[in-house]
Amino acid sequence: MTVNPTIGAEGVRLSFEFFPAKTPEMEVQLWETLEDLSGWDPDFVSVTYGAGGSTRTPTLATLKGILQRSHIPSASHLTCVGSTREETHAIVEEFHAAGIHHFLALRGDPRGGIGTAYEPHPGGYANAAELTAGLKALGDFEISVSAYPEKHPESADVAADIDMLKRKVDAGATRALTQFFFENDQYERYLDKVVAAGITIPIVPGILPIHNLAQVRKFAGMCGASVPDYVIARLGTIDDLPEERFKAASQLAAEQVKDLIHRGVSEFHFYTMNRSALVSRVLELSGFQRVAAEARNNTQSGAAA
Ligand code: FAD
Repeated sequence: MTVNPTIGAEGVRLSFEFFPAKTPEMEVQLWETLEDLSGWDPDFVSVTYGAGGSTRTPTLATLKGILQRSHIPSASHLTCVGSTREETHAIVEEFHAAGIHHFLALRGDPRGGIGTAYEPHPGGYANAAELTAGLKALGDFEISVSAYPEKHPESADVAADIDMLKRKVDAGATRALTQFFFENDQYERYLDKVVAAGITIPIVPGILPIHNLAQVRKFAGMCGASVPDYVIARLGTIDDLPEERFKAASQLAAEQVKDLIHRGVSEFHFYTMNRSALVSRVLELSGFQRVAAEARNNTQSGAAA
C-alpha cells in the first residue's frame, strides 16, 4: 500500500498529545508548542487527564486554552478510576459544555500506583469498555481508547488484552491510540491479531521521540513497553549531550515513522512532552512539509462546518 506523504485529507493524519502545565513557565512553553505544532495541521490534539497527579481542573483549563488559541479539534483523556458514575457524568457534562466532543476513554492506573492491584470504584465504571458505553449513553461523542502492542502489564495475556480492545470497540470506540513502542515488527504482529479478532478501527501508533533516554527507560519499565538494545546503543552514551541526542533521537523516530508509512500506516499520534522542536524535526526528516496557515484554516473551518 502506498501512502501519500503529504499531510491532510488525502495523506498522513497527525495528532499530538499534551499534558497540563504545572508552572507558569511550562504554560508559556505549552502555548509555544501548540503554535509551532499547529503548522503540521493535526487532525486533533489531546490533553492527558489525571496522569502525574493532575486533575480535571488543569485538564479542562488546558483544553479551554487550546480552544481559545486555535481551531484544532481537541480531545480530552478521561479516566474513570476512583470516580462514581455520577461524578464521571458531571465531568463529561462540564467538558462538553466547554466544547469538547471527543474523549479518550481510559480506566486509569490503580490508585495505589502502577504495580498495585486495581480496585474499581464500587459505584463507578470498572474499566474503559464500561466507560465507553457510559459515554455513548450520555451523548454523541467521538470516543478513542488505548491499545497495547506489547500487552498491558495487568493483562493475563495478549488474547485478554485484545478481548478488552474488542469490548471497547463494541461499546462504541472508533479509534485506538497505542502505548509507545519502538519495534515496528511487534506492532505489525499485534495488528494481525487485532484484525483476526474482527477489530477494524484504526490502531494509531503512538510515537515517542526520546527527549531523555533514562526517563523513557524508567517509564517503559512501569508501563510494560520495551526499549530495544539498538535504541539504547544509539542514545545511551549521549543522553547528557543535548545536540547529539537531539540529532540521534530525531533520526531514530523518523526512521520508525518512515518504516511505518512504508508498511501502510497513515495516522500517527505523537507524545510531544509539551515540546515541539524534536517532534517537528522528526516530521521534517520523515519528509513532511508544514501546511500554510491559510490552507489550515480552510481545512479546520471546513471540518468544523
Ligand atoms: P483498559 O482498557 O480498561 O484495560 C487495559 C488492559 O488491562 C486490558 O487489556 C485488560 O485486559 C487489562 N485489565 C484491565 N483491568 C484489569 C484487571 N482489573 N485485572 C486484569 N487485567 C486488567 N493514564 C492516565 O491516568 N491519564 C491519561 O491521560 C492517560 N493517557 C493515556 C493515553 C494512551 C494513548 C495510553 C495508551 C495510555 C494512557 N494512560 C493514561 C494510561 C492508562 O490509564 C493505563 O495504562 C491504565 O493502567 C489502563 O487504562 P486503559 O484504559 O488502557 O484500561
